[in-house]
Amino acid sequence: MVIMGVESTAHTFGVGIVTEDGNILANVKDSYSSPDAGMIPDEVANHHKSVAEEIRKKSFKEAGITWDDVEFISYSAGPGLDPALWTGYNIVKSWSEKNKKKLVGVNHCCAHLSIGKVWNKLKDPCYLYVSGVNTQIIVQEEGRYRIMGETLDIGLGNLLDKFGRVVGLGFPAGQKIEELAKKGKYVELPYTVKGMDMSFSGILTKVQQLHNKGISVEDLCFSLQETCFAMLAEVVERAMANTDKKELLLVGGVGANKRFCEMLDIMCKERGARFFKVPIDLAGDQGAMIAWEGVLRRNESEDMEVDPHWRTDEV
Ligand code: AMP
Ligand code: MG
Repeated sequence: MVIMGVESTAHTFGVGIVTEDGNILANVKDSYSSPDAGMIPDEVANHHKSVAEEIRKKSFKEAGITWDDVEFISYSAGPGLDPALWTGYNIVKSWSEKNKKKLVGVNHCCAHLSIGKVWNKLKDPCYLYVSGVNTQIIVQEEGRYRIMGETLDIGLGNLLDKFGRVVGLGFPAGQKIEELAKKGKYVELPYTVKGMDMSFSGILTKVQQLHNKGISVEDLCFSLQETCFAMLAEVVERAMANTDKKELLLVGGVGANKRFCEMLDIMCKERGARFFKVPIDLAGDQGAMIAWEGVLRRNESEDMEVDPHWRTDEV
């Protein structure tokens, strides 16, 4: 028997098929993108509706399974964009009713953490979760997640995407920013670490102002990366020192950035710790992580509709 996982919290609709011991048999997805705007909620919902059946069929074909092989359906119940979540929920609900499969609602953020942990075979890492919406430093204590530090406003990915929109890079912008940063030099930006938390919205305002003054996009890309990655490296190092963690695991879409990984790797080496990330196809949103989180939570969760504001430390 296999477990099917369905992701639909934001830009991506994905279906993953995993075995009970964490083998990934298929992980098919399709992501909404837009040439000149951010995520328009209704468009995202329509995207998910239009690709769902095709993505499911592809994943079943790749895994070599039929509905008979599916033990239950795990789905992303939150946090996320309301219309995207409800669209995803209605799709899994109809699949579950038609094929008589139990639904298990799981937390999208916890799924990012769990897939990284199982992939790297880690014992007890400090997690750095940096995606579009989320930026959090997390540890596990007595079976529960504890958030050591987090953004006070927007997620780092969101900052990158909003900046990308201002300067015409399209959505999502992270990868293009990484490319352009290679040709940039440093201009000073606000460094906004507040205790164990950080803030990114002021940095967005500042880069917008500098862009209007004629500072090059390359320089702004470089400076954004250097400043924001350094802020996170600082807070993560403090979290690791305070909790005595020897492993750092970076998850979420911004984890695809090579410069970010390099900085975190240096910080870990300097303190005798080890840095881990996830392969690019498991770093961003996808269904395999939802399936695996379902395997871990199968006895404690069920059909719970959706919860757009479900926090990691409430799980
Ligand atoms: P997620 O929400 O986990 O799927 O992550 C999506 C976010 O990752 C978006 O904000 C992207 O702009 C960002 N992202 C993707 N690739 C990169 C990259 N190479 N460097 C920085 N950010 C990236
Ligand atoms: Mg995500």
